[in-house]
Amino acid sequence: MIKRFIAGAVCPRCSERDKLRAWINAEGTQYRECVRCGFEDAIYAQPPGEIETRVNQPRSGPTTSEDIKPIRFIPDSED
Ligand SMILES: [Zn+2]
Repeated sequence: MIKRFIAGAVCPRCSERDKLRAWINAEGTQYRECVRCGFEDAIYAQPPGEIETRVNQPRSGPTTSEDIKPIRFIPDSED
């Protein structure tokens, strides 16, 4: 088992660059660890679907549905 440093990789925990080492275990799963803070996780072929840092924010802004009401006068047409 050879652990190799990942060039340019940034640790997701401590944000240190060039501190991550990666290796592949006997089952073929690739792991990575940070030699600075001890972070360790597995790297899978399929990337995760969600990004942890993304925050869903509700839409902000004025609501115009109650402010603007179309007013239309329909004259009674009596022939
Ligand atoms: Zn780290």
